[in-house]
Amino acid sequence: STALATGLRQTLDELVRAHRPAAPVGRVPDSIPHLHSVDPTSFGIAVATVDGEVTSAGDADVPFSIQSISKVFSLSLALRHDPGQTLWQRVLREPSGTAFNSLVQLEAESGIPRNPFINAGALVVTDFLLEARGDACGEVLAFLRALSGSTAPAVDEAASAAELGSSSRNFALANFLADFGNLRRPVPEVVEHYVRHCSITMSCRDLARAGVFLADAGRGAPAVATPSAVLSAEDTRRVNSIMLTCGMYDAAGEFAYRVGLPGKSGVGGGILAVAPGRGAVCVWSPGLDAKGNSVAGSAALADLSSRIGWSIF
Ligand code: GLN
Repeated sequence: STALATGLRQTLDELVRAHRPAAPVGRVPDSIPHLHSVDPTSFGIAVATVDGEVTSAGDADVPFSIQSISKVFSLSLALRHDPGQTLWQRVLREPSGTAFNSLVQLEAESGIPRNPFINAGALVVTDFLLEARGDACGEVLAFLRALSGSTAPAVDEAASAAELGSSSRNFALANFLADFGNLRRPVPEVVEHYVRHCSITMSCRDLARAGVFLADAGRGAPAVATPSAVLSAEDTRRVNSIMLTCGMYDAAGEFAYRVGLPGKSGVGGGILAVAPGRGAVCVWSPGLDAKGNSVAGSAALADLSSRIGWSIF
């Protein structure tokens, strides 16, 4: 596996050279002012394999805003605490084909969000955690720290306060959910916890390490200090399936075509991809395409997947 790590290290260095933007590409969302102060030429990539090794290149140690990547971990945590699978009465598992913050389907489908990775569905998951655990953001943060074996993951309070001030859309979604009886906790509490867990900052290295259980049938990698299985093998398969079909929003089909791995993006420019049986990959570069996915990150993952043959297809 050391030979693999050496080869991989070389590949990742090449990916940094090939994909780090020389000048700003794409765009950065207006609703999150803090993201505008991040260096647009940042590019980092890390691969954490199921045998516990982490290989990285570029800005892989620089913390960035994980945004919607947090939805993978809030969902996994909710499933951990939902033996009766009751969450699935409140959120579907279908790709939306619409923007991550769309309101349209929520009204058409009587307040049952299409999937847990669009904002509407993630708000329901946050609400579920608040009811089941008495906390959502704190639980997600503690989970990420335990999984990554690092105390570095933290909530960027300034960024989250600023985003909360421009969260009219998320408040609208939450009010719709509440009106249809699909929230148990008050709207302001749910939106605040949701925005705060989106505002967690982590490095590619820590995020790749945190995602390894998804590649390892729910087991924590040996290097990770989790006492027992993170998630059942069955629920892990399910989370991966939802990542594949819904993780990149209305670009999920394109990502499956180009990369061939379950993935989850965030508007901070990060993407977490899972290669079942092999490992987790986290790539980060801030410039986004029109669907809200990292331009350089998607290209680098397509390149990586074709170079090392990790596509699941
Ligand atoms: N916090 C962001 C929002 O709610 C997350 C969006 C994303 O990363 N796609 O709009």
